[in-house]
Amino acid sequence: MGGEDAEQMTRLYTFASNIEYIKSKRGEMGVKLVLDDLHKKGYNLDIKNIKSSEWVPISLRKEFLYSVRDALGWNEENIYDMGRNAPRFSYALKIYIGLFITVEKALEAPNLWRKHYSSGTLELSKDTDLKKGIAKYILRDFDVDPLFCKYLEGYLQGFGDLTKSKNVVVKETKCTFKGDPYHEYTITWDVKR
Ligand SMILES: [Zn+2]
Repeated sequence: MGGEDAEQMTRLYTFASNIEYIKSKRGEMGVKLVLDDLHKKGYNLDIKNIKSSEWVPISLRKEFLYSVRDALGWNEENIYDMGRNAPRFSYALKIYIGLFITVEKALEAPNLWRKHYSSGTLELSKDTDLKKGIAKYILRDFDVDPLFCKYLEGYLQGFGDLTKSKNVVVKETKCTFKGDPYHEYTITWDVKR
């Protein structure tokens, strides 16, 4: 387990929108509380280079979520909101989605998972039926923490919020931490008939 764990990495820039979000809710002091808590556990989040694409261990993502929870007293729903707001903090992503319009088009876009994470695969399930307004993403080989599952649920919802489709709802419907073989995120939206 240890060896494989050490190789799982994520990009430093995936934290940038989270730092902005914390700043917007709790100011610079809130950010400091989180960074200090991380530091106590022996982790360093280099916010001076937060836009950098350098790889950092995935354990930093997990510990970061724990520090947000413990140092700020945020619950699962607050962390979900932090994930949900992340896509709208990303200028590049906004432009990118702006080129599309609907959920259907966004789902046809290239899979960006491996740009942000060194492991795991995100794929559309065969149960996806764009005409019926239902899509299922399957996330395999990526078991960070239930708190990350919640964060990702928020993130995908935030992605859906940026599209022009109506009533986009994203829910994690399967989870390895609940005994399923993989994580599954079900996305539903209104389709024009
Ligand atoms: Zn999960």
